[in-house]
Amino acid sequence: MNNILTLRKKIINNGGFINAHAHLDRANTAQCFTKEEKYKFLKEKWKLVDRIKKESSCDDYKNRIELALEQQKSFGVCSVLSFIDIDDVAFFKAIEAAIDVRSNKKDIDFKIACQTLKGVLDKTQNLLIEKYLPYVDIIGSLPGADANKERHLDQVMQWAKEYNKRLHVHVDQLNTSEEKETELLARKTIRWGLENRVTAVHSISLACHPKRYRKEVYKISRDAGLSFISCPSAWIDHPRREDLAPIHNSITPVDELIENNLIVAIGSDNIHDIYKPYCNGDMMFELRMLLEACKIYDEEQLVKIATTNGKKVLGIETRADVAQW
Ligand SMILES: [Zn+2]
Repeated sequence: MNNILTLRKKIINNGGFINAHAHLDRANTAQCFTKEEKYKFLKEKWKLVDRIKKESSCDDYKNRIELALEQQKSFGVCSVLSFIDIDDVAFFKAIEAAIDVRSNKKDIDFKIACQTLKGVLDKTQNLLIEKYLPYVDIIGSLPGADANKERHLDQVMQWAKEYNKRLHVHVDQLNTSEEKETELLARKTIRWGLENRVTAVHSISLACHPKRYRKEVYKISRDAGLSFISCPSAWIDHPRREDLAPIHNSITPVDELIENNLIVAIGSDNIHDIYKPYCNGDMMFELRMLLEACKIYDEEQLVKIATTNGKKVLGIETRADVAQW
């Protein structure tokens, strides 16, 4: 009996994979960057992508998103949420293209979140993003793009309330004990009364902290109804470091999240771009990496992570434990 084949069959029988986190507007652009650039650190790449954002026309964006969606379909994906750049480099080219593709795409469910790669506190970026908030399915956020992460979160949470939309936030991405962003996100969620409407993307650095701290964060996360998206291969290439932390794989501690009754979905994150030149967006590969790295052999749980949990964080399926939209 081939376990991978039976697992895939169960997922397809359950409607197919939900890719809950991607950046399709930059998919298949790896060839635009040199080998040296591909080896740069994450935050340097945040700036290097300006080149394709500047050079791409609305049609380029459209073609890229459509091609990436075709590839996703071939991997058995039925819904994808993609963050889409809106800032003073991409302006509205990427978001206009994404909206156009969304309205014409009938064979795969395509959802859009705003990417805030240049932050939300700068006045120009703030105005550009807010203009398109009525059209995004989910409000996206990257607190690390602003010097003041708390103020960044206050702004996106205010938007989530005002526009009555779910919020997905990149947090604890760097696998370092210097980060405590998941805790901050959970606390802010409660303060803003956004329980059950906020999702943490990554939360890898949680695993760098002692068990007592992790337990505390799981408790606050439960109180906040915080859900999680793990992108299993996204930071597995994390550069080796000399600082000491509890031993763990460079991945969201999904086994512990599940034990603590927290909802976890999966995403591909970047596909064939400067960040992940060899990531092809195959969600079965991502699920396999997750089950190996976190030792999760419970097939029922794995099917939930790949399908129904994805629907929950995307607001597709409503259950008692997820806010109605
Ligand atoms: Zn991302």
